[in-house]
Amino acid sequence: MRLLPSALAPLSAAIALGAAAGCATSPAPLPARSTAPAAVVWQYDVVSNRGGLDGLTIEARFAPMADDSLGVDDDAAPFVHDAAYASGAQWVSVERHGASWKVPCSTGCRVRYRYALREAATRLNDPETAIASSDAVSAPPATWLLRPDAAGGLFRFHVAIDAPWRFATPMVPVPGQPAGTFEAPTETLEDSSFAVFGAFDAETIHNGATRAEVVMAPGLAPLSRDDVIRWIRTAVDSIATYYQRPFVDRVLVVVLPGQPGNPTRGVTLGDTGPGVLVRAARGLTAAATRDDWIVTHELLHASQPSLGRGHAWLSEGMATYVEPIVRARAGLVTPERFWGDLVEGLPQGLPEAGDQGLERTHTWGRTYWGGALFCFAADLAIRERTGNARSFDDALRGVVAGGADVEAHWSIEQFLDVGDRSTGTRALHDLYRTLALAPGTVDLPGTWQRLGVKVEGGRVSFDDRAPLAAMRRSITERGPER
Ligand SMILES: [Zn+2]
Repeated sequence: MRLLPSALAPLSAAIALGAAAGCATSPAPLPARSTAPAAVVWQYDVVSNRGGLDGLTIEARFAPMADDSLGVDDDAAPFVHDAAYASGAQWVSVERHGASWKVPCSTGCRVRYRYALREAATRLNDPETAIASSDAVSAPPATWLLRPDAAGGLFRFHVAIDAPWRFATPMVPVPGQPAGTFEAPTETLEDSSFAVFGAFDAETIHNGATRAEVVMAPGLAPLSRDDVIRWIRTAVDSIATYYQRPFVDRVLVVVLPGQPGNPTRGVTLGDTGPGVLVRAARGLTAAATRDDWIVTHELLHASQPSLGRGHAWLSEGMATYVEPIVRARAGLVTPERFWGDLVEGLPQGLPEAGDQGLERTHTWGRTYWGGALFCFAADLAIRERTGNARSFDDALRGVVAGGADVEAHWSIEQFLDVGDRSTGTRALHDLYRTLALAPGTVDLPGTWQRLGVKVEGGRVSFDDRAPLAAMRRSITERGPER
């Protein structure tokens, strides 16, 4: 599920963007659940023992399958115990072979097993497979649900959990089924979003039609509950102001204490529902959360469709460029800081010798800052072509206007088409050709001059007589005049 090597971790952890590894071309759209109700082909009853902290006991029923093989992610496999299938009234034990279990299932089958959830979280300590903090464990269903290869239809699970323990997921409960029942297309299980078991506090933040369910694990002091909610709410409200509309129907935000010595980190997952996991730096104070950019960065990921792993430069570039704009417009970042950071950061995104364009050069600098350079160049091009009446903001607003978020899989063409249509220009397509399909560059010193941005001795100053000074101001102040 990991998109980028861990060497890229400094600028927040990777977002899992695609359903399949190496999907550099247009991923197939997921089945439309509303128009064609699909059959449930995998069904799970999950009993969480002491809130899941003493493991999960799972019984599953599978529709007939051609290949008699069940599996989980490689890393998650050692924590499956006592697997057995039903044969008449008997249970027959099954041995593990690597990360798979052979089960006769040509006419359908029942399987049961135990999953050592807390042990998996302690050993793996990875947000994308399993991670624990005190009495809360976060692990996507892909970690604890044994399954055959996806073959259409839905998987459905029911979690039985006793108070005071709780379960949280961004998945939508199935109407007409007992509480704690969720389902999704089988294709989405492999990259499924976060699920949390155990003892945690939770609160829902509303902004218009946007709903963020915040799960707070124990151990976040000195942050109080109110501090955490204010932190997440500030990011949600700032992004809603940026979009001028609701930007995601629902998103699960899981806040866990981080490892000693590590900065605040975040990961976003999309399949089965938008989910953001944040590991707050140890000792993080309420005052310090005002300077945090991670939550805004990750929620921006959650707000935009997945473009596939091959186009991470655009997803990361969008979040890298737009996050400080969102925060500047909310008064959390000064224009001097915004422009100073761009002048310092963007040169890391320029092509070096041997570069093959953003689509084919997947280094850290080209992914984060090269992608940001593309978005910055697009912002300026759209503003220049429309007399500052339209901007990159409008392109992103157009993308979310139809209700797409990180759960949706879009091709790059679809993103460029919708973005350009929203601004009435061809700026995204034009720059895609020159910067992404070829190692085109941007004259940054000339751009700073035209915008009237000067950095001398680390001090940022502005020249309001510069030709693009009005454009520079409108980037951080508010949306362009309509
Ligand atoms: Zn990111």
